Amino acid sequence: MPNIAVLTSGGDSPGMNAAVVSVARGAARLKMPLIGIKRGFNGLLGKGKTWEDDYIRLDLDTVLDIADLPGTYLRTARCTEFLEPAVRERAAALLKEMDVAGLVVIGGNGSFTGAMRLCELGIPCIGIPGTIDNDLAYTEMTLGFDTAINVCTDAVRAIRATSRSHDRPHVVEVMGRNCGDIALMTAASTGSEIVVVPEVKWTVDGIARELNRLIESGNTRATVVIAEGCWESMKPFDVYQFLKPYGKQVFEGEPMSANRFASVLKRKCGMVEVRSTVVGYTQRGAQPTSRDSTFAFEAGQMAMELLHRNISNEVIGIRNGKIFHMPIDKALKAHRPFNKTLYNQINGL
Ligand code: ATP
Repeated sequence: MPNIAVLTSGGDSPGMNAAVVSVARGAARLKMPLIGIKRGFNGLLGKGKTWEDDYIRLDLDTVLDIADLPGTYLRTARCTEFLEPAVRERAAALLKEMDVAGLVVIGGNGSFTGAMRLCELGIPCIGIPGTIDNDLAYTEMTLGFDTAINVCTDAVRAIRATSRSHDRPHVVEVMGRNCGDIALMTAASTGSEIVVVPEVKWTVDGIARELNRLIESGNTRATVVIAEGCWESMKPFDVYQFLKPYGKQVFEGEPMSANRFASVLKRKCGMVEVRSTVVGYTQRGAQPTSRDSTFAFEAGQMAMELLHRNISNEVIGIRNGKIFHMPIDKALKAHRPFNKTLYNQINGL
């Protein structure tokens, strides 16, 4: 019987393990042995000293206990060497040597490009969108996104309780790279007053003006939810020049951060305190929500079904709430308009 292989690549996301388990169950049903490839495409470089350095046999006994675990059991990593055609050719040859008839790649758009390149070299691949960022436009949700917004929602609710108690505003930075979806959904679900996203240009003075307006109208405990990618979409602001006269220790050229932003807002809005929190990696390492786990289960099943029907070079996603698949190249070209209506509603525009 030829083998099926599975790997997780890019940033880890809650639900990756659940997807691996679902692939394992599908493979077991088809009586196809499953090989787990460790550390994304790195496991295909043939660098391990022993077979076990790069691979693991994933029989049902091995995987059943990992379904609910956060992180990824197979490990994940970036693999810049995989951008080189000669390296990919060696990887494809290695997969053929191992009699791999199909590969499931769980990752983001970079990983999908890698999968597409392997398809061109004769390795049938299926992609499952594993990233908390929700930055894959072809699908309504990616694996881990629902967990991330739930983690952020819990964090912001707790922060708003203390903001209320102390009557002080709070800046909360969430993940999402260049996609503002985590920030947008977190702000909407917590009643936060201001959301800042990379999709919309913004200025420090603009946010300070808005915060001042809220303070003047009696709201001295507003929450500003900001996506991590916003520091790059911010119109230039010299945090060094601004904070230095206040005796703050800031170094010239130091980039803006949630902490610095809170310091600036405190001064621009005349508040005793503006605090900041970076929710950080708790978003990536959390236990998957049932929504993410369900998507992982359905996606793993569909991946195996497609490979069994000799369909490859496809990615799995959610459209109108239902699981579907489409060609990788089309998926990577998809464009999803930013939800400006929700953005305007949150910011009271
Ligand atoms: P995340 O959204 O979590 O960052 P991602 O899959 O987009 O996930 P990347 O770092 O962009 O993360 O890509 C993961 C890996 O995919 C890269 O380290 C590389 O091995 C492979 N990859 C990325 N781009 C390409 C490409 N153009 N050709 C071949 N392989 C690629």
